Amino acid sequence: MFNKFVASLLPLFPKKFIWIFSKRYIAGETLDDALRVSKELNQEGVKVTLDVLGEFISSLDEAEKNKQEYLHVMKRMTEEKIDGNFSVKPSSFGLLIDEETCYRHIRELVARAASYDNFVRIDMEDSSCVDREIKLYKRLHAEFPQHVGLVFQAYMRRTFTDIEELTPLHSENKPLNFRLCKGIYVEPATIAYKDHDEINRYYLKDLEYILQHGFYVGIATHDPFLIEQAYQLLEKYHVPPTRYEFQMLYGVTPERRKSVVEKGHAMRVYVPFGKDWFGYSTRRLKENPKMTSYIIKALFNKK
Ligand SMILES: Cc1cc2nc3c(=O)[nH]c(=O)nc-3n(C[C@H](O)[C@H](O)[C@H](O)COP(=O)(O)OP(=O)(O)OC[C@H]3O[C@@H](n4cnc5c(N)ncnc54)[C@H](O)[C@@H]3O)c2cc1C
Repeated sequence: MFNKFVASLLPLFPKKFIWIFSKRYIAGETLDDALRVSKELNQEGVKVTLDVLGEFISSLDEAEKNKQEYLHVMKRMTEEKIDGNFSVKPSSFGLLIDEETCYRHIRELVARAASYDNFVRIDMEDSSCVDREIKLYKRLHAEFPQHVGLVFQAYMRRTFTDIEELTPLHSENKPLNFRLCKGIYVEPATIAYKDHDEINRYYLKDLEYILQHGFYVGIATHDPFLIEQAYQLLEKYHVPPTRYEFQMLYGVTPERRKSVVEKGHAMRVYVPFGKDWFGYSTRRLKENPKMTSYIIKALFNKK
């Protein structure tokens, strides 16, 4: 309770102070930091997906700048032969300002990724973005079926139906490709499940449906129960390694990550980097309020 209260005050803490805890979740402020971390992860047999930090923007000039930054990231990743792909948040490309401009920017990124035989994952943002992000995915999947994917959040009441509705778009040559996560934004109970066990039940229902229908899936979770259940479903449906991977966030449960890799499953780590690290890290800290006890201890212990 106390930790939750402190977590809600996090945005008021001095930035420098939050950084002490954030650096665990962020590769660094620069692309060189992200490339270094990615190489280290590749050496552990783990692939990456790079995320340039930054979300909801207020002008379309920022969208253009963000696109240029991603194009540069793609070029460097390819030159450095990093085993990784790219995750994008459509709100950083103007999704809520001008959908068509956002589509054109992300289309350019997916086309560039396709020219490198690479892949762009569209992150799922809060509920104001869900319809638009599904629409964006459908358009891009029609043109670049092997090079673009979407995220679904198990906590949204609509998710199972959304996945069912996309099913007719799936075929051997045009595979649907989803990352399945629990969902991170604060949503009202009218549209999102709130109870931990209920979210897990729907996560497994969505996952089973995805595996039964042969879509590619990124099983994005650190939850040991879900990981264990996912192993069982993979076995039950004889899912080949070409159709799934596990995914975790940089800095979260590295030991659990190692144990999944040691069992022979493909693993991809989401590596965020960039100057806009503050929003991302306060969300991670709020998600895990136990972390705030470390903050409080450090406040009084300057050694
Ligand atoms: C690769 C990846 C991509 C994601 N993309 C999106 C997205 O596009 N949209 C979206 O809404 N959400 C996204 N998420 C976030 C996701 O929705 C969850 O909020 C987050 O993964 C925590 O859920 P969990 O499944 O790990 O389960 P939880 O029940 O939250 O956690 C399970 C266990 O994992 C450990 N753990 C979890 N979080 C932390 C933490 N911050 N610090 C330390 N330990 C922790 C703890 O041991 C905890 O008990 C993504 C997550 C991953 C892994």
